[in-house]
Amino acid sequence: MKIKKIVLRKMEMALKVSFETSFAAMKTKKFIVVEIHSKDHIGYGECSALAAPWYSEETTDTAWTNIEKFLIPILFSNQDISCPEKIQDDFKWIRRNKMAKAAIDCALWDLYAKENNISLAKALGGTRSEIETGVSLGIQKNPDELLYMVDRYINEGYRRIKVKIKPGKDMQYLSAVRKEFGDITLMADANSAYSLTDMDLFKQIDDLNLLMIEQPLANDDIIDHAKLQKALRTKICLDESIESVEDARKAIELGSMKTINIKIARVGGLTEAKKIHDLCQENNIPVWCGGMLDTGIGRAHNIAIASLPNYKFPGDVPASNRYYANDFMSAPVTINKKAMIKVPLEIGIGIEPVQTLLDSFTFEKKEFLW
Ligand code: MG
Repeated sequence: MKIKKIVLRKMEMALKVSFETSFAAMKTKKFIVVEIHSKDHIGYGECSALAAPWYSEETTDTAWTNIEKFLIPILFSNQDISCPEKIQDDFKWIRRNKMAKAAIDCALWDLYAKENNISLAKALGGTRSEIETGVSLGIQKNPDELLYMVDRYINEGYRRIKVKIKPGKDMQYLSAVRKEFGDITLMADANSAYSLTDMDLFKQIDDLNLLMIEQPLANDDIIDHAKLQKALRTKICLDESIESVEDARKAIELGSMKTINIKIARVGGLTEAKKIHDLCQENNIPVWCGGMLDTGIGRAHNIAIASLPNYKFPGDVPASNRYYANDFMSAPVTINKKAMIKVPLEIGIGIEPVQTLLDSFTFEKKEFLW
């Protein structure tokens, strides 16, 4: 692949409604879109770093700086990029900054698939023609509002409901959903809001027969999670704690979880996500695809990777209309009555941004010529 040009866009889109987690309430999403141009195609990547360092240390601005000052010069120093995996070796000396790296990695994978005239899912080794999705619900003001939201999304077709929790807004909320909706597929995500001193609460939650509890303890922990997993029947899912295939190996050895929410952005891109998928598959640990309130490009990459065989639980890859009133892609992603999303067969990510719409959400743009 010979790169001719790279375009960076800083963009902002308003969320339909504020999304609250244990760390923040967001009203808009700031993000970066990376375009990597070859002679015939454009590969697209989305950088998921948030406006402030809530979820990880990166922000939209730090990612922009790292992409511009370090990652693009590395790309431009390569005459020809034979496959997307190769560039990760050249990125290795840059510590962390996974979301900046992921944006480039994803754009390269899209371009690679397009240059080879195959879908991104096929390029990654995907085997599914459709993927199952679930809905992730932010923390609501009271349990009644949560019940209203759950009812609404079940009516839209979603079958797996994920509820964000934090201290004081946990057991009462989850048990209200269990009581009202019976045996639905229900799970909780704590975004690291608890510690082992909350064992009594975890024991109560254990009786709710959740599909899993996601990242209950510290964002950088795998030791206490191993202790907690031994004490619970409910599967622990690690999110924030797993940033690389090496983290996954150590967590598997310790028994820190029974599943991983692989977010492409958190682990540095599709290359590393695929490695984590493969390692988990060898160890009989099913995985699933998480999201970062992604817009159309990030969603398309998620759909492609979630078509790999060991992605076994429904992902946080909702339809286009879940978070944003308008997207900028040529066609919306929709779910059918069984909460399934079709994996595109067209080349690359399958759907393209509409340039005029892309421009309308862009507030800063910079071009880099070879
Ligand atoms: Mg999570």
